[in-house]
Amino acid sequence: MDEQRFAHLIAEAHRRFGQAGGVYRAPGRVNLIGDHTDYQEGFVLPLAVDRDTWCVARQRPDRLLRLVSLDLEPEASCSLDHIDPAALPGWARYPAGVAWALEQAGYRLSGLDLLIQTTLPLGAGLSSSAALELACAFALEWGSGFTLPPRENALLCQRAEQQFAGVPCGIMDQYVAAHGVAGAALLIDCRTIEHQLVPIPTAATLVVFDSGLRRQLADSRYPERRRETERAAAVLRAQFPEVRTLRDATLEMVAAVAAQLSPAEQRRARHVVSENARVLAAATALAAGDLTRVGILMNESHESLRRDFESSLPPIDRLVALCREHGALGARITGGGFGGAVVALLAGQPTQPFAEQVVAAYQQETGLVATALPVRPAAGAGPVAREERRHGLVTRTLRLPDGRSWTAYRFEDD
Ligand code: ADP
Ligand code: MG
Repeated sequence: MDEQRFAHLIAEAHRRFGQAGGVYRAPGRVNLIGDHTDYQEGFVLPLAVDRDTWCVARQRPDRLLRLVSLDLEPEASCSLDHIDPAALPGWARYPAGVAWALEQAGYRLSGLDLLIQTTLPLGAGLSSSAALELACAFALEWGSGFTLPPRENALLCQRAEQQFAGVPCGIMDQYVAAHGVAGAALLIDCRTIEHQLVPIPTAATLVVFDSGLRRQLADSRYPERRRETERAAAVLRAQFPEVRTLRDATLEMVAAVAAQLSPAEQRRARHVVSENARVLAAATALAAGDLTRVGILMNESHESLRRDFESSLPPIDRLVALCREHGALGARITGGGFGGAVVALLAGQPTQPFAEQVVAAYQQETGLVATALPVRPAAGAGPVAREERRHGLVTRTLRLPDGRSWTAYRFEDD
């Protein structure tokens, strides 16, 4: 499968650019628990998944950046001396933004042709945007003769998405795409921007459902929620000096300032504070192999998002309920909300029938078509392969994320 994908991508790069170079990959992610905690410096528990974005890079002699995606039209190009989001199609702002952020940080890039392809659904909540950024960050860096540590790459890519593509994202997506480890989730502290690995028991199976409901880009509810949490944090800070963000608050503190908060602000704060506690409890339970407890905490998280944060939608509540009715230990909406994805945790149950039954029942009840994506915890961003040419001999080495490698040879004029 990966061999075929690799061969196809290399052939496309030859066809379009006349040559191929290195191939770099970055995974999507799913957040097991911890939503709307990141921008209040709290905790999240995501994992990198085995669906990813690949980027082939070919060096150019000039300062042009050419961007081609096999998943989206149109192709784009810009000079590295003048990278302007207004002159680029929407999708190209993510990779061009990474080049912009690198140049802003003082790194000199060489011109490159980039060819992009993904196995992630776009806009479904599995973070295809961060995967695109990280795969391109690797391509841009290796193509220009340097590499940065994963944390720095994550921060640069976040800056690209926030300041260049204009999406006010937290650090989670880029961080997990950069640091993912096969077989583990990452407990990320969004204040210190550090993580601990939490092994995922092999008995656990995860299924992500794309609900078929998309949040509109112009949706004002996400920024509105952020403002409500910020206002609640400001009120708490005035009363309790030790509170810098909601990360430092307790439910008792929220209750103590209730009179100064609107009912909505109280509920938003209650979600964030209780969600942080659930994330820490879930990390402990996961490390202990207690999947039943993890499932309960996921269910509680959904309830809190539905009732207090009000970022779910009735069809998504149904999808979550159907997952539980069909045997999931836990299920919850995951991601920014108001559409998007649901994650379900299974143990000791075949995935395929579960996924099919849930999708069929969901369609019957809501008329919506969900897509089920079984996912496994996978490795973070890195090189997939190199293509090297020496004395007319072209060597292609493919390193699969699971550690296997595969090499092919041919002569230049074959
Ligand atoms: P998510 O990150 O959950 O998939 P986003 O809305 O944050 O959703 O990002 C999706 C956007 O990222 C797409 O609409 C597109 O602009 C860009 N994108 C992601 N992957 C690709 C790709 N392989 N090719 C072109 N554009 C992509
Ligand atoms: Mg995204």
